[in-house]
Amino acid sequence: MYTLHSRSRSSDRRKTVGAALAVAAGLIAAPGAEAAPAPVIDSFECTNVCPSAGGVVSGSKLKVRGRNLGDVTTIVFHGGSSGSDDTSVGVEPASDTTIRLTVPPEARTGPISAWVGPGAHSNPTGTLTVRRAGSPKPAPSPEPPQAEGTPEPKSAAPRIETSTSGKQLFFGQRSGLVFTYRVRHHEPVSVRIDLVRLSDRRVVKSWTPPPVAPDTARSVSWGGGARRQMAPEGRYAFRITAVGKDGMKTSNSAPTRRSPDAFALAGHIFPIRGRHDYGSSGSRFGSGRSGHSHQGQDVFARCGTPLVAARGGVVKYNQYHAAAGNYIVIDGAGTGVDYAYMHLTRPSPLRAGQRVYTGQPIGTVGESGNAQGCHLHFEMWSAPGWYDGGRPFDPYSSLRSWDAAS
Ligand SMILES: [Zn+2]
Repeated sequence: MYTLHSRSRSSDRRKTVGAALAVAAGLIAAPGAEAAPAPVIDSFECTNVCPSAGGVVSGSKLKVRGRNLGDVTTIVFHGGSSGSDDTSVGVEPASDTTIRLTVPPEARTGPISAWVGPGAHSNPTGTLTVRRAGSPKPAPSPEPPQAEGTPEPKSAAPRIETSTSGKQLFFGQRSGLVFTYRVRHHEPVSVRIDLVRLSDRRVVKSWTPPPVAPDTARSVSWGGGARRQMAPEGRYAFRITAVGKDGMKTSNSAPTRRSPDAFALAGHIFPIRGRHDYGSSGSRFGSGRSGHSHQGQDVFARCGTPLVAARGGVVKYNQYHAAAGNYIVIDGAGTGVDYAYMHLTRPSPLRAGQRVYTGQPIGTVGESGNAQGCHLHFEMWSAPGWYDGGRPFDPYSSLRSWDAAS
């Protein structure tokens, strides 16, 4: 029989011999009542995605040739001698003599063997060299920063990228803070966004938008309101939780002061946007004036320094008065308080009845009317308002606290 292995015959002759051998092998195996004959691997070769240095890499197409391969279910990559680095790949043989497979990422250099279920198997082959593949290119993306590496494995939890448009929010400002998020996952995920007050961890507002497609930027915005009024001043943070269909969950950074999505909410912005000082005792509320007491606080700044609305609302008056000069009174939204700004360089461009947002320019510091030196004369009046049944109160501590925060 052994002489039949010689390759000295024609190819037709070899096929005939091979068939005869297969029959013989089957006949030999039958008496043992074992299932299939043991497979034999004669050779292997890389056919596609092949490293130029020879061998294979993860993802290479490997063609295995041999005998009795038709029932093989598994090719084992043995790697080193320890066995701890064995890995296997399921196969569907193309024929009794050929198996094609893709080299798995875990494959390591070493012999391979072919298995028929858990039982019959071939002897290990000689060494198959498995080289390390180069790093995969990151997918092109319109926005940095990108995590390096491979596409998201299907078993992984979603990843979230977030950003918040500022560290400070003034209630009533032109537009709220914008929280933008994008989910990295292989399928759409459900998201929930909570706005957390850091002082007591209370959730003051939540958003549950429709499921988010992967890699799509979405955003929500918040202007500082909760239940139709301003939320308490203080620190807040956006928290987003994404849940995949498989229940895998992930969140952005914990809601603490250090979170990149944390910010401070304030009800007012300091109205003079430049260097200033509070003058002497004569600048204070209640100091003596001829025939009356001072009904506001004077704050000195160079003429032309921009002024903004400390609190948005509605313009109540925009007029000129011999003593007050160019002045404007704004009914602050949600406060019941009227805010008066006097001695402006020129009349404010705003009209009575016009809505104003917090921080909106209202004019510049001047010395119009009865003023000694460029300064803002600032008044605050309780409801129902300025010369309208309300009473003026000392705005000093308010100005100081806004000044410190903004
Ligand atoms: Zn004054």
